[in-house]
Amino acid sequence: MNRLRRVLVMLGLLLTGAGAHAAELPRFEVVALGVTGGVGSDNLSGYLLRAQGDTRYLALDAGTLVSGIDKARARGSLKGTTGEILHDGIAAYFISHGHLDHVAGLLIASPEDHGNKPVYGLASTLDVLSRDYFNWEAWPNLSDRGKAPALGWYHLVDETPGTWFPVQGTSMSAQLLPLSHDSVVSSMILLRAGDAYYAYFGDTGPDALAHDKRDLADAWKALAPLVRSHALKGLQIEVSFPNDVPDAKLFGHLTPAWLLRELQALAEASGGADSLRGLTVVVDHIKPSLDPARDPRALIAAQLAAGNVLGVHFVFPSQGDRLVFP
Ligand SMILES: [Zn+2]
Repeated sequence: MNRLRRVLVMLGLLLTGAGAHAAELPRFEVVALGVTGGVGSDNLSGYLLRAQGDTRYLALDAGTLVSGIDKARARGSLKGTTGEILHDGIAAYFISHGHLDHVAGLLIASPEDHGNKPVYGLASTLDVLSRDYFNWEAWPNLSDRGKAPALGWYHLVDETPGTWFPVQGTSMSAQLLPLSHDSVVSSMILLRAGDAYYAYFGDTGPDALAHDKRDLADAWKALAPLVRSHALKGLQIEVSFPNDVPDAKLFGHLTPAWLLRELQALAEASGGADSLRGLTVVVDHIKPSLDPARDPRALIAAQLAAGNVLGVHFVFPSQGDRLVFP
């Protein structure tokens, strides 16, 4: 967009309100509350996603929550006080799987959160939340099931894989698909807002290392028509380790080589090598190293760039970033 047009659009927004220029607003925006797969506790997987025209967000995992909101506010990616964003800005949560680095922020913030918010997940994930965390021993039972008294501040909502459901408090609908993640069933959420889609993957390993499971193949099959029609605006997926970590040490995670191979499978399902050209792929859950001589993020970025024959647009968010998907 040239400068003049940008100024005119801004004037238009001021004069007539944002609704009249909906086409100029992003279809989705994602605010990164936490982006790493460890090893510190203040920057773990957590994102806020909002669709065009919505005021409220769906939280995608909540490994880090309040400290991530603070970082995002400081960067200008979120407006309002931390309390307003936590209470009113977040309409609902999606938890991809029960690992602590995806739920710790939700648990720690929960006494200050309220509003009977839905927590969406596969039944197996929400069983972990109920049994292992909201059990009056690990944490008070603020959920609406499990060990009495169930205080009901969060409404745990089991979702059937592959079935669309409305995301309460937003204009979006969503469906979940299971993923293989070491000994755990993880999940992907596909968000739909009008004719635009966004796919957020929880932790996952490659199909080839998942004992003949075909969970990613099934996900690619589901996404292929959306890739073909350019309705998929973004795809967010993990790359936990650089390529020198051997398969036996991945424990249900991806390396650049494995992600590139899986994206090749998506391209084939979507009609060929050129079908992913320009697709934004958000890379998350990079595990930092305590070795000061090793920079996994730089290694992963270089290895993905070197193998990017499909021409996708890799994005590596930092904590507090706001990403927009036109
Ligand atoms: Zn995990």
